[in-house]
Amino acid sequence: MRAFVITEPHIGSVVQVNEPVIGEHDLLVAIERVGICGTDVEFFNGDMAYLQSGHAKYPLQLGHEWCGRVIEIGSQVDEKWRGKFITGDTMLGCQRCERCTSGYQYLCHDRDEVGIRNGYPGALAERLVIPEFAAHLLPDDLDPALGAMVEPTGNALRSVDATGLSQDERLFIFGPGTIGLLCALIAQSRGIEVHLIGIEDRSLEFARQFGFAGVHHINAIPQLPVHGIIDATYNNAVPALALDLLEPGRTVVFIGIAGTPSMIDSRVLVLKDLKAIGILSASPGVAGAIALLSSGAIDPRALIASVVSLEESADVLAGKRPGAVGDGPKIHIKP
Ligand SMILES: [Zn+2]
Ligand SMILES: [Zn+2]
Repeated sequence: MRAFVITEPHIGSVVQVNEPVIGEHDLLVAIERVGICGTDVEFFNGDMAYLQSGHAKYPLQLGHEWCGRVIEIGSQVDEKWRGKFITGDTMLGCQRCERCTSGYQYLCHDRDEVGIRNGYPGALAERLVIPEFAAHLLPDDLDPALGAMVEPTGNALRSVDATGLSQDERLFIFGPGTIGLLCALIAQSRGIEVHLIGIEDRSLEFARQFGFAGVHHINAIPQLPVHGIIDATYNNAVPALALDLLEPGRTVVFIGIAGTPSMIDSRVLVLKDLKAIGILSASPGVAGAIALLSSGAIDPRALIASVVSLEESADVLAGKRPGAVGDGPKIHIKP
């Protein structure tokens, strides 16, 4: 089958790879749509942390934001999956260790991550194999554009939930990329007062169409009581800034990862009685994300600037925007 494979930093192309082999507990999926995200770009550029830690190495077949249709099932798989439209959890724990059996399979020490870790092939291909435990049913008529947004939406949902905010409280979100915008849409749908903060004028201008309470440059942050903060940036100065801005007793959520350590003064945490929460992966938020997207509670399709072919993956990963209409941060691939 055809798959997009990266062989070294900045070098990738569509090649013929072996047809995936399905085990008795696996599903074979014909991929309909794949989203490209910042993690994929880091792999293409060669600076993803897993390349240094040894959790990933070239050649790499990326793609972890996907949806598709089940075309074959293993002998031990429930018949209900046959022919179904699905997406899947990126995190594939061993299912045996203490973390896996106590609700933390997505943090398993030995986990694979689809298209990311331990060489598990991703969805930038015609077909993908995933274990049954990782499969999530989608409504049969759901737009594939939304199906491929489940993974980032799950991350955003967990981040907004972690702030603990309710209606009419004020949330500052740093980073107007896909995750920041998804957080903003979810929070806005709950009646939370959303302020989005960024650096690039183009991204800020794009964010203004959604009617958030505020969209601000990082040098012009309004002086208002802030009841919750989400850091969805790669900026190592934001965590400390967030602690300074936040009202005492409240929560800051970190989902962005800077390329260098972000220094915070833990005394600020203590003296302001703050809570700091890190979010890794959509996993516990996948079901909730499917509900948000299929009910229409949020509709993030405006974030998708274009849908291009598998052959154009290298251009997209290199930061080009083939066929892009507008300044939306997300580009989708149709293998
Ligand atoms: Zn991603
Ligand atoms: Zn495990």
